[in-house]
Amino acid sequence: MTLNERQQQNEALRSEFLRRSGVDVSKCYQCGKCSAGCPVGDHMDIPTNKIMRLVQMGLIDEAMQSSAIWLCASCVTCTTRCPKGVDVAHVMETLRQMAKDHNCVAEKNIDKFHTVWMNILHKMGRMYEPGLIVGRNMVTGNIFQDTSFGVPYLAHRKLKLMPYKSNNIDEIKRMIEKAEAMDREEGGAR
Ligand code: SF4
Ligand code: SF4
Repeated sequence: MTLNERQQQNEALRSEFLRRSGVDVSKCYQCGKCSAGCPVGDHMDIPTNKIMRLVQMGLIDEAMQSSAIWLCASCVTCTTRCPKGVDVAHVMETLRQMAKDHNCVAEKNIDKFHTVWMNILHKMGRMYEPGLIVGRNMVTGNIFQDTSFGVPYLAHRKLKLMPYKSNNIDEIKRMIEKAEAMDREEGGAR
């Protein structure tokens, strides 16, 4: 398939990406500063600047199917470093949301981890690390993964064994619900 044909095939995805992200990727001039500063760049299948290039060329499907967008830790270093003011981290986030909505998640375990994380945040208004590890291990089927990590923290009372709720749980719930409603609005207008 020629590049032109692939771009035509991606036209609807390109429009959806533009509407959902609001980011003008045409400003990117491939300096590579986003990739150079990325703390997880060494583990990505496609470097951040190349993801930007794929989006710029309208090849949204290829960017959406990468594992790189799931390794992104949303640290926003790339956005801060970009000399052209491109919100690279928001591009990565939009691609993740689109990959979920189009059922083409490359890193399913990371997506499951995120779901467990959000469930705990909903219920507790804060993170409960022992529950996060157990929950992640149950949904991914790796029952004993990382279980020994928490032991020294528990021994030094850096982690609490029993869960406890945030004092501001209602406020946090309202904040999450508002963000989820905004997400639904973006996705629903596809
Ligand atoms: S830092 Fe900005 S201009 Fe440079 S490659 Fe990344 S997105 Fe493009
Ligand atoms: S936001 Fe994601 S892509 Fe950008 S520097 Fe951080 S981890 Fe890398």
